[in-house]
Amino acid sequence: DALQRWDPVEVELINTRRDGTQFWVQLSIVPVANEKGWFTHWVSVQRDITERKDAEQHFRQAQLDREERVALESRLIERERIQDELSYAAFHDELTRLKNRGYFMARIHSALSKGTTQKPGAATVLYLDLDRFKYVNDGMGHHAGDSLLKSVALRLSECIDPTAVIARIGGDEFAILLTDEGHQEQAIETAERVTHALSLPTAIDGQQLFISCSIGIATLDVQHTTAEDLIRDADVAMYAAKKKGRGSWAVFDLSMRQASIDMLLMQNALKHAITRNEFYLVYQPIYSIATETIVGVEALVRWRHSTLGIIAPDVFISVAEDIGVICDLGQWVMRSACREVKKWSDAAGAVTLKLNVNVSGVELNRSDFVTQVAEIIAETGFDARALQIEITESVFLHEPEIVAKTLEDLRAQGIRIALDDFGTGYSSLGYIDRYPIDAIKIDRSFVTRMMKHERSVAIVNSILSLGQALDLAIVAEGVETLGQLDQLRELGCPYAQGFLLSPPVLAEDVLAMLMTSKRQPLP
Ligand code: C2E
Ligand code: CA
Ligand code: CA
Repeated sequence: DALQRWDPVEVELINTRRDGTQFWVQLSIVPVANEKGWFTHWVSVQRDITERKDAEQHFRQAQLDREERVALESRLIERERIQDELSYAAFHDELTRLKNRGYFMARIHSALSKGTTQKPGAATVLYLDLDRFKYVNDGMGHHAGDSLLKSVALRLSECIDPTAVIARIGGDEFAILLTDEGHQEQAIETAERVTHALSLPTAIDGQQLFISCSIGIATLDVQHTTAEDLIRDADVAMYAAKKKGRGSWAVFDLSMRQASIDMLLMQNALKHAITRNEFYLVYQPIYSIATETIVGVEALVRWRHSTLGIIAPDVFISVAEDIGVICDLGQWVMRSACREVKKWSDAAGAVTLKLNVNVSGVELNRSDFVTQVAEIIAETGFDARALQIEITESVFLHEPEIVAKTLEDLRAQGIRIALDDFGTGYSSLGYIDRYPIDAIKIDRSFVTRMMKHERSVAIVNSILSLGQALDLAIVAEGVETLGQLDQLRELGCPYAQGFLLSPPVLAEDVLAMLMTSKRQPLP
């Protein structure tokens, strides 16, 4: 007990056995002192701790594993999230957050493949196209177009059964899939609800827009083998709905398919019609009722196709608007008409023959429209003061400010503006004092009804007095009978146009009429 001991020193180290294998030892080294308290020697105790070390190692590994597992887990979660995002993107439309075309097709496909026999009626598609979306998109910009699409998506989601699939499947095209066993009534009811919901005005960029949609309905049937087949039929029905007028729906039937082939054919043919020189102009004279002379002509476009034959503008103008060739066509019409009428005016002894050209709303919304007209005038040498463009009030439906500015700019060049088909819109009177209008063309329907209905006489009469008060030139359109002409003369209508006076004729005939029958009395 004379021994004095200090605290032991403990170390753990790897020792090597003679055979070269290694083992863990714990070495406790204890310093020992003599009675005077001086250090004399060490006592060392060795303990094999390999087992414990292994256990520790194991434990550490386990801990590491856990960390790794957690890390791995969060990596997996992240990957899932990315996958979710990707599959969300794969199945959804980014702009409207509705389902996209791919998802929609897949759902039809799964309805198709239920069992080996197809299930007629297992799915009904409503194919929906916004009417005149182009006006908003081209006229007010893509931002407004996008807002409109989003608001349409919202309205659809609000008014459609939650079990239905709603998708945006193209620019301004949406589709609805009903999978409740073939209830066509349900589809029609849905179509009614949608057309109503979309007919309510939408505020976009501080403006009230009135839009509408056309809906085609097609139900899965034995003749459908792919999802595309069903969609195509719904699309075909949609075109039939468009023909009925804006805001309509139509249910597919087989007779529509032929018509749709024609439509495709026409769209395709129309794209090449200008370069292939297939358009030509006819001119319908406009007469002064008082002096019984031709005061001007209205240029009307015709399309002669090698196999489709001669096609009327009522048929192809809206298609030209749809596929975006209307601006090129409009320019062609304007240039050709200015060139031709200038030639006649010169030939007929420098009379200033007035030229009326129809301009589509799509053209008016183009920012370069005025410049293009100015170029045509400079190029052809046509007197701008003799040019009058005819617009319908539908051009004011979207971006009225842009249209008003365009009209003012045209007027600054001396060009006059006529409101065509007057009386057929909603609030024609409203446009007259708000926009720069020089002339009004009373729609043919009033002239036709004039003989039978006192009301129509009263309307024509009030348009005439309005014209007088506001210093507008009034033209009665579609005069077909002497009775109508007499009545118009009696009412004091200054100008008339119609089959009775002259149908639209070829250029050479106009010149002949100008040369020979300039002073010929009206029939
Ligand atoms: P609109 O501007 O109202 O043209 C008058 C239409 O009435 C012409 O039909 C003309 O042939 C027809 N018409 C003239 N007098 C009579 C009549 O006494 N009785 C009847 N029943 N019809 C008469 P068209 O040439 O088939 O043109 C149809 C529409 O196509 C035009 O209606 C116009 O909106 C459009 N259009 C024609 N040419 C052009 C064009 O170059 N550009 C644009 N954007 N549209 C055009
Ligand atoms: Ca016209
Ligand atoms: Ca007209």
